[in-house]
Amino acid sequence: MAEQIEKEKPYWQRYYEKNRAKILPKRRKSWKAYYLNHKQELLIKTRRKKWALKQEVLTHYGNGKCACVNCSFDDIRALSIDHIEGGGHKERLKLGKGLDRGGVSFYRFLRQRGYPEGYQTLCMNCQVIKQVKTPIELL
Ligand SMILES: [Zn+2]
Repeated sequence: MAEQIEKEKPYWQRYYEKNRAKILPKRRKSWKAYYLNHKQELLIKTRRKKWALKQEVLTHYGNGKCACVNCSFDDIRALSIDHIEGGGHKERLKLGKGLDRGGVSFYRFLRQRGYPEGYQTLCMNCQVIKQVKTPIELL
């Protein structure tokens, strides 16, 4: 049975499994060379991917627009995800390592979870105003 499965595998796969120890270091070497030759290009690609993800998530929580739901400010550099009920930081700590910092891993987390409810897109101004709203009203 095991032999039969072994035969069903394509030739290249059988070859790879047999010669893995020889192939992997070569691959690593060529990948490293490729990386060094295309470093700038790859960094730009990664950065674009991150911004595209951020834009996608912010657009979802901005009700279809990549903008603050409160004041419509739309410079993506100053937009972030707000936990509507507050306590976002504590919740992220509970959710897992890396998510407490916000950023890409948090955006990825939200997308992977199918955009859970309870979040909105806010600009930094509205974010700060929301935090200090109560004390100012008391003045
Ligand atoms: Zn705003």
